[in-house]
Amino acid sequence: MEPAQRFSRKRQAIYDALMASHAHPSAEDLYHTLKPHYPDLSLGTVYRNLKSMVAGGDVVCVANVEGKDRFDAHVEPHAHLVCRNCGAVLDLPMTQVISEECARIAEERGLSIDPRSLRLFGLCISCKDRGFPDPIWQ
Ligand SMILES: [Zn+2]
Ligand SMILES: [Zn+2]
Repeated sequence: MEPAQRFSRKRQAIYDALMASHAHPSAEDLYHTLKPHYPDLSLGTVYRNLKSMVAGGDVVCVANVEGKDRFDAHVEPHAHLVCRNCGAVLDLPMTQVISEECARIAEERGLSIDPRSLRLFGLCISCKDRGFPDPIWQ
């Protein structure tokens, strides 16, 4: 098989793994998921492919948690909750109202705002249930 085809097969695998996940994995997470199936896969290949998919608009970088970018192949408009305790990134619905409000503020201030980049910080259900205090309020 030609190197170019191997490259695109891995690229498809990275995209499919991202699409199958709702955990907003990091490049490292995807690497560990795919490595058993693609023994010659390198972390650099995962990074390179993610970067080009982000540039092409197929994938969105939705958060940076503890220094690691987190990715989403579900590009329809939605916001994210980042858990301050465990680093989980959860999907939140992006209502028409919030989306329109972002557009209104952008217009008013002469800015460009991507409502998909909206991030809220708090605690996921399991951290909240286990009684972790939200660190910001400590
Ligand atoms: Zn959590
Ligand atoms: Zn998401």
